[in-house]
Amino acid sequence: MTDAIRMSHSSANLINSCERKYFYKKVSQVAPDVEQEQRHFVLGKVFHLALEKCLHRSEEYSEEMLADAAHEEGLDNEQDIAMIHGMILKYLILHRKSELEVAICEIAVGNDKTIGYVDAIMKDDCGFWYICDLKTAGRFDDNLMARLIKDQQLNLYAYFIDQIAEKLDLDIEKFAGCLYRVTTKATIKWNKRETRQEYIERVFERIESYSIFIPKEMLKPKAAYDTIIKAQERATKLKESDETEAKQCFNSCFDYFRPCDFFSQCYGYKHFEGQDKFPVENSYSAKPLKQDELYFLE
Ligand code: SF4
Repeated sequence: MTDAIRMSHSSANLINSCERKYFYKKVSQVAPDVEQEQRHFVLGKVFHLALEKCLHRSEEYSEEMLADAAHEEGLDNEQDIAMIHGMILKYLILHRKSELEVAICEIAVGNDKTIGYVDAIMKDDCGFWYICDLKTAGRFDDNLMARLIKDQQLNLYAYFIDQIAEKLDLDIEKFAGCLYRVTTKATIKWNKRETRQEYIERVFERIESYSIFIPKEMLKPKAAYDTIIKAQERATKLKESDETEAKQCFNSCFDYFRPCDFFSQCYGYKHFEGQDKFPVENSYSAKPLKQDELYFLE
């Protein structure tokens, strides 16, 4: 008897994008080709954690909280920490204007087959409550508004509103819907001639926080739950299989413009070696192709 897999939204995304990638990461636990920079994950975690510590209340937020959050997540880059401070200040304005109160952060939802952590449950002064998902992003995606009613993560959380209502003693009838909040990041560098405060002010001017409300009537929680259960069943099968059972999806090798961690397992060489194997010519450098010089076809 093996332990049942409790599928998270991100693991379901992984298996649905490429089963083989899921297999290497979760089943055979192959070492990745290169330890890739995960800076954007760490920035997002610190942003979330600092807001969690103050329950999104601007009057309680302090730079010490941010410093603690950065320390807990192992972030020591002063420029990144200053940028996150600018992002939080921007987010807190948005949140204050919404007049919502955070009831809890990071609440676990799920069952024996799936697990998730909701960033925040928020309430208004009429007792209506909201599932809130926080994101940080390089830019605001205008397509979000069109696609959010089918967002798997929001819909999966909404599937468990009875659990949330029970844990927090909320009226399930007053679940209003989901809030999807995005705060953008700045790409500007901390100029040696400027103070920390000046850098934060420049960051603040360049970024924005957005909030999108999706009413509960437009959500499809059961469909999202069924999708995750299907992924969970497939993951359970793969756990007992060898890698050839896990389908390769070559369209996913550069998802989000990043090479797959296990590229060499499928291609026989690391992704950056492709540039030497397949030299690029352009209108300046092109020359006649000579088959006897194409060493890489041997
Ligand atoms: S290299 Fe491509 S096919 Fe192979 S595991 Fe990664 S995403 Fe899947």
